[in-house]
Amino acid sequence: MAREKMESRATDERIRFFRFVNRAEPDECWPWLGQINTHGYGCFGGSTTRAHRFAYELLIGAIPVGLTIDHLCRNRNCVNPWHMEPVTNRENVLRGAGRTAVNAKRTHCPKGHPYLGDNLWFDRGSRRCRECNRLAMLSRPARRKP
Ligand SMILES: [Zn+2]
Ligand SMILES: [Zn+2]
Repeated sequence: MAREKMESRATDERIRFFRFVNRAEPDECWPWLGQINTHGYGCFGGSTTRAHRFAYELLIGAIPVGLTIDHLCRNRNCVNPWHMEPVTNRENVLRGAGRTAVNAKRTHCPKGHPYLGDNLWFDRGSRRCRECNRLAMLSRPARRKP
């Protein structure tokens, strides 16, 4: 009944969807042949549905709430869901950026102390490790009191 109706609708959408997909090899990019929005993403079934998100949910599963889809292949019009990974918005932004992204992703100082809580302090915008600072102080020869 209602369930069957829903399933046939899903199948219709699936067929409609794949009409716009240039499905190459499973590990290649699948360029979207339908409408592309101003950001370079494919649109499906109205401008609000992103084709790549649709592909992901169709072939892999629901995208967890609050996550965005990151294109591992950097090809925004690619709808191959195996080229996508759900990430938080922040991760996505970080991945897109260059050097700042690398620095922000670093969770430990070069000596392996965590950039966390009290151990972390900022010096003119860059992150410093308090523990390293403390060790550096200790290794300095102690000043004798006069
Ligand atoms: Zn791709
Ligand atoms: Zn350190």
